[in-house]
Amino acid sequence: MTNHPIATPLLQWFQANGRTLPWREEPRTPYRVWISEIMLQQTQVRTAVEYYRRWMRHFPNLVRLANASLDEVLKVWEGLGYYSRARNLHRCARIVMDEYHERFPRHPRELIRLPGIGPYTAAAIASFCFGAQVIAVDGNVRRVTARLFAFEKEVTRQDAERLLGPFYEGYPAGEMNEALMELGALRCLPSRPLCDTCPLRESCAAWQTGSVHRYPVKPEKKRVPHIYRTGYLILRDGAIFLRKRAPDEMLGGLWGVPLNGDGFPELPESGSVALPEVKHAYTHFRVTVRPVLIRLEAKIPAIIQKAGRFVPFQEVSDLALSGLDHKILGRLEAYLLERGSKFPPLDRGGEGR
Ligand code: SF4
Repeated sequence: MTNHPIATPLLQWFQANGRTLPWREEPRTPYRVWISEIMLQQTQVRTAVEYYRRWMRHFPNLVRLANASLDEVLKVWEGLGYYSRARNLHRCARIVMDEYHERFPRHPRELIRLPGIGPYTAAAIASFCFGAQVIAVDGNVRRVTARLFAFEKEVTRQDAERLLGPFYEGYPAGEMNEALMELGALRCLPSRPLCDTCPLRESCAAWQTGSVHRYPVKPEKKRVPHIYRTGYLILRDGAIFLRKRAPDEMLGGLWGVPLNGDGFPELPESGSVALPEVKHAYTHFRVTVRPVLIRLEAKIPAIIQKAGRFVPFQEVSDLALSGLDHKILGRLEAYLLERGSKFPPLDRGGEGR
């Protein structure tokens, strides 16, 4: 190895300060790296550790995951949010099992063709597990790059690759990637970076010019659409009516309270009871749901019956539900408790979101 003023202190710092995390334990297989990297997207490390351990108990290897049902996979994922990640993990496992003889392809160009694997995850798997010399650019790496170079625009993947490329020459990319990400997670924090103990301080343009607070340059905020829905709570004989969302719908494959406008008709609300609103935020939109306890006449209209089924209260927690549905059912739980009835507490998996 050469003695580069950034790479050398960075790797030394990482060797002394890198955290012990379950996915860094040996054997470091592509399966374990893949699962952890997908979980870590949009998820705090602390939460991901808990889910990762749970996941490995259920699906210790690719074949076990590929042979599981989607319902089983969604249930183990429940609470992590962004459910397309879980659906893609399941699809991808089946493809790797059937088309790649249970072995992940080694090259990022091939990895990226698999469902749910983008340029970052492909580079992470290829560099950590197969020794590929590729730069994995995640949010931490972008932020560190923006500050190291006092970069005056939003840092794209291509910018990061171009700027960081020379540091990687002669060093193992897997270790460099991990060290940079760790620096972003432990020192170069989004707000209040810990520059005093940063190994790259002397080479950091933002620190040298006293302008760390200016970087990374923020992109212009886009307006996030807000949608409004009514959630129908339909109860009968200790059971609640739930529908399984179609695969191509939002939260596809998950069970939940029927919402108007999501493939479910408007229901008459005379005699219904409105419960406090529920708000939930997704990456691309926000939703406000007004839960109403519907009083249906004795006969349930056929259109409703076809859309789902009555699930006994005790069995609701066996189904995979979204964070939004947990909140809605929480309103029902509170309403029933106030009146001395009980809706069994829901198993929220790990940390509900
Ligand atoms: S000196 Fe500060 S701003 Fe620069 S890389 Fe280190 S932690 Fe980030």
